[in-house]
Amino acid sequence: MKIEILTPHGFCAGVKGALDKALRLAEEGALVYCLHEIVHNEIVVESLRNRGFRFVEDIGEIPNGSTVLFSAHGVSPSVRKEAFARSLRVVDATCPFVMRVHKAAKAFSDAGLQVIVIGKKTHAEVKGILGEAPGAMVVASAEEARRLEPGAFVRAGVVSQTTMNADDVAEIVAVLAGKFEIESTAEVCNATKERQDAVKAFGGDALLVLGSANSSNTRRLAEVARCKTFRAGTLDELRALDLSGIRHLGVTSGASTPESFFEEAVRFLLQSSM
Ligand code: SF4
Repeated sequence: MKIEILTPHGFCAGVKGALDKALRLAEEGALVYCLHEIVHNEIVVESLRNRGFRFVEDIGEIPNGSTVLFSAHGVSPSVRKEAFARSLRVVDATCPFVMRVHKAAKAFSDAGLQVIVIGKKTHAEVKGILGEAPGAMVVASAEEARRLEPGAFVRAGVVSQTTMNADDVAEIVAVLAGKFEIESTAEVCNATKERQDAVKAFGGDALLVLGSANSSNTRRLAEVARCKTFRAGTLDELRALDLSGIRHLGVTSGASTPESFFEEAVRFLLQSSM
């Protein structure tokens, strides 16, 4: 089996920045509560848990005065207010690209536009963005955009979750532009786009995406591939895959997948294909 490594792979800048902040806290020896998984990767989360980090889904679970680490996905302004009111020491690991989306959503909202967030309603990043723009709506597909009533509002400001499928975002924006007067900053981040472009250009017969099942950018990579796809977030998951009959396998990873796991996985593939 021929194995082709697609680039880029491994951590994006946003994930690196978030983990640097977490590791600095670990060195201090502070008891840290991380609000939500710092990034969506089980290996990363487990390694921080082993260093004493506690992961919670609600800020109400964190004792007053503790240290809280906000994840790379960002939080809504109401969470920041509560952290302040409860005298939490905040370390903010929100990715700068996500912060940019928050600012755009707030600016559109302040200007009186109907804010539309392209993304998945249940994703932590989208929940944070929605907090910036009361009354914002979420659209996850072109189909949903087509179903919006043309007269529901006149002017809309459109932003996007950073880890969507770039082609879907472009299609949704085009549908919205055909129905409303829109201002748009909707686009995926560079790390997401570069990985998706590499996957779309891959011409082999199967693609292995290394990353966790709950990682949005990992799932999108499998979605944009033009061949059969496999996913593995751990070596056990990789060992369980049936890759028999594959002649040319591409290997890529989500932006929150550690390079150490990527290398381990490639070593395993090379050994088993000899
Ligand atoms: S995938 Fe994009 S938005 Fe998410 S952490 Fe990386 S750079 Fe930031």
